[in-house]
Amino acid sequence: MNEQYDYDLFVIGAGSGGVRAARMSAGYGAKVAIAEERYLGGTCVNVGCVPKKLFSYAAHVSADLNNAASFGWTTASTAFDWPTLRDNKTREIERLNGIYGSLLENAGVELFNGHAELTGNNTVAINGREYRCKNILLAVGGWPSIPEFPGSEHVISSNEIFYLDTLPATAVVVGGGYIACEFASILNGLGVGTTQLYRGPLFLRGFDNEVREILAEEMRTSGVDLRFEINVDRIDKQGDTYRLQLTNGEVLETGLVLYATGRNPLLEGLGMDTVDIALDDKGYIAVDDNYQTSTPGIYALGDVTGGIELTPVALAEGMTLAANLFNGEQRRLNYEHIPTAIFSHPNVATVGLSEEQARERYGQISVFTSRFRHLKHTLGDHGGKVFLKLLVDAATDRVVGAHIIGDDAAEVMQGIAIAVKMGASKADFDATIGIHPSVAEEFVTMRTATRN
Ligand code: NDP
Repeated sequence: MNEQYDYDLFVIGAGSGGVRAARMSAGYGAKVAIAEERYLGGTCVNVGCVPKKLFSYAAHVSADLNNAASFGWTTASTAFDWPTLRDNKTREIERLNGIYGSLLENAGVELFNGHAELTGNNTVAINGREYRCKNILLAVGGWPSIPEFPGSEHVISSNEIFYLDTLPATAVVVGGGYIACEFASILNGLGVGTTQLYRGPLFLRGFDNEVREILAEEMRTSGVDLRFEINVDRIDKQGDTYRLQLTNGEVLETGLVLYATGRNPLLEGLGMDTVDIALDDKGYIAVDDNYQTSTPGIYALGDVTGGIELTPVALAEGMTLAANLFNGEQRRLNYEHIPTAIFSHPNVATVGLSEEQARERYGQISVFTSRFRHLKHTLGDHGGKVFLKLLVDAATDRVVGAHIIGDDAAEVMQGIAIAVKMGASKADFDATIGIHPSVAEEFVTMRTATRN
């Protein structure tokens, strides 16, 4: 390393993208430091993907218990204990925090606990010292954004929901994105009377319209009181009860209000005023296709850049940057065909285009759909129907979009995503033998187009 610098790379933020970039860079021989002021593993490990999925499993148990009788099981009286779930989850997260620390240590990355900030184009200050850095990576992620209105101080975000002292009898979830749908489903599954409010005509804007409609139907069937074209005007607290004045004049009383109304880049206190780093029109750090900001030598990736806010995307970005900076490569990440899942109940998973996007891009498409009762639910009247959808470009026969609603949708979609990424045609899908009996086999047995 050049004597002029203390580090080849200083990473600010030990979340998914930052940790991966740091480890890979150190693996290529760079001298790397990483700073974290909150928790190792970032949002995903601490207040996001991982604990959310654990809660989602917990919430699914209630559906399985409902189903048990149809399989001949007599279940004695059952009860759910929130502190047990919360504390078991926290123990597991703490274990993962430790693993992240060991991974960094074993890779030779120097870890600083504390608040780091930029003090110039090549300098970072932390814990009272300034370090000279050849390259700096800003991987500080995002933070829940809650609109300001009378009573907004009474609401919680996804940061707090993981650590509630008690689970209320009723809750209102505001928002229509990933987090709102997932937590409305989780709370409902854990036995909380749940209302979800979304300001637009149909939640999950940007997803396939048919998928959005069917998910809304299924979530309502599962017990969520889902309301569209509505918002909150004000909230008053009376004892342990929150009184929500809604935009339609209605008043709703509830024990908890969770706002899941998007996230903002976490730039506060980062020393952005000491450097000349351009932001995009939404306030995220603007980067080129190698994650370089407008200041050479300062890079940014993951949620702080406002791209596709998914852990696997941040991981891929971190690996790409490390290879380019310290292994002489010229990689560029391909952002097409990124599969994603919403862990609502039922789950949704998708890869490629929605029907609306496919029609716009390709003109002539064939749409294959199938909706049926899951075999698991045929003996009782519990559980809704699964839904599968394939979109095929008529000109090339290529599958350009795949969608599924149902249990384990994400597990199914990961494999389908490989085929779609490889450019599989509908004929390739048809030539594949199904696994019987399974839900996923329907992806290779849909022969007649529902519409063109
Ligand atoms: P999203 O951006 O997905 O959704 C925000 C929602 O809040 C939208 O429905 C939006 O409505 C609504 N909204 C925004 N502002 C207001 C407001 N002032 N009043 C009322 N409603 C409002 O954000 P999330 O917080 O759900 O998630 C953040 C990101 O985290 C996601 O984009 C996703 O990338 C990632 N994530 C991924 C998960 C996964 O992979 N399973 C799980 C959880 C999060 P409108 O559509 O009208 O703008």
